Amino acid sequence: MGNVVTRFAPSPTGHLHLGGARTAVFSWLLARHFGGKFFLRIEDTDLLRSRQEYTDSILASMRWLGLDWDGEPVYQTQRADLYNSYVDRLLASGHAYWCSCSPEEVEAMREEARQKGLKPRYNGHCRELGLGPGPGRCVRLKAPQSGKIVFDDLVKGRIAVDASELDDMVLRRADGMPTYNMAVVVDDHEMGVTHVLRGDDHVSNTPRQILIYEALGLPVPVFGHVPMILGKDRQKLSKRHGARAVIEYEQEGLLPQALVSYLARLGWSHGNQELFSQEELIKYFDGTHLNPASAAFDFDKLDWANAQFMRALPLLELAREVAPFVKAEGLIGDDARPEDLVPLCAMFRERASNLRELAQAFRPLLVKADGLEYVPKDADRHFTDAGKRHLGELAEIFRRLPDFDAGAIEAALNAYVADNGYKFKEVAPPVRTALMGFMGGSHLNEIMAFLGLSETLARFERAKTYCGS
Ligand code: GLU
Ligand code: ZN
Repeated sequence: MGNVVTRFAPSPTGHLHLGGARTAVFSWLLARHFGGKFFLRIEDTDLLRSRQEYTDSILASMRWLGLDWDGEPVYQTQRADLYNSYVDRLLASGHAYWCSCSPEEVEAMREEARQKGLKPRYNGHCRELGLGPGPGRCVRLKAPQSGKIVFDDLVKGRIAVDASELDDMVLRRADGMPTYNMAVVVDDHEMGVTHVLRGDDHVSNTPRQILIYEALGLPVPVFGHVPMILGKDRQKLSKRHGARAVIEYEQEGLLPQALVSYLARLGWSHGNQELFSQEELIKYFDGTHLNPASAAFDFDKLDWANAQFMRALPLLELAREVAPFVKAEGLIGDDARPEDLVPLCAMFRERASNLRELAQAFRPLLVKADGLEYVPKDADRHFTDAGKRHLGELAEIFRRLPDFDAGAIEAALNAYVADNGYKFKEVAPPVRTALMGFMGGSHLNEIMAFLGLSETLARFERAKTYCGS
């Protein structure tokens, strides 16, 4: 397929949420798969609810997700004249007409239809009157009154609607502003869009938009209407289900590639594969295998996906990703180098499912001995006389080691246990608690190698003077 052009058209009335992000992912993938273009359009015509800060936030989330777009975003509020020039074309070709009916009159027509058990609709009163422009007049499409509007939806398959179901829709309101469907058709045409992927809350607009394309004599793009994302209980997705705005996942320390992979899988499949790199998604996503059934958002699965991505990332990259979170925890300064976090990432990445958790796991090893927090239960239990004696003897041994590296530390620890006939499980807990403040963490030798000799000894010293919680 040559020249595939897609777009994402958010309304800036809130931050980018999961459903919107997934539509964006699909549209972006389709364009990237076929080497086409992906454009952004900001549908900001709802002046009361649209805000620049939401546009900025949506663009920031798109960048964070790695969904790069071509050219500059298009803003609908700047294009009213363009839309109206198309309305004028329709008037000139006889595909549209001026209507002088007042809102009350139109409401009365609707009521009349309802009374007859028909769909409420405008009755075509001005269709053949040949009215010109005038105050209070809108422009309506002269829609076909019979036949079917048929399209093959990429997701839902063939959709057919009777033309008789649709009335002569307004294209330009009495205040001179174009209507939503008019603007979308003009934009998609002007932007060269070949494939429209959007939420299926818009599926009822599509036959109307097709009528406008046809009236203008323009090629109709391919449509794909993606079903809503639901909660696990099949109810409308909300905060209650762990659903948040994309920006909140960023703040929580999800990796964008994990969120993209998870969202793509939500409503699309490639065999049984669960996790996809960006390259794989681009390679496999061709607009087929889109699931017409609503997918359920599963926070645990997203968490799992993120943990997998964290494990697969090269350590230095993970260190770069986690560094801002470690700074935010106040554990390192602005001048800290991500390289220094590599050993910590190696030790703790299996134990965290997001970057914030990972950063928090570093805390015991990034504070000084006297700033280490003890979990009282563990300290009381392991800083016994025997425990403190082990710490004292190990301190002596460690002091004499020519090199204080992970290998030497492990050998010394093992020799201490074996030579004295101790059990590892009586020696390790006081050491671990002295180093970490609680019975958790990673391999003792790696922890000590990271801390270095003097910080290790300082922790042993402090534990030796512990006298109960
Ligand atoms: N602005 C619409 C929305 O946010 C998108 C409409 C479209 O993609 O055609 O739901
Ligand atoms: Zn009328």
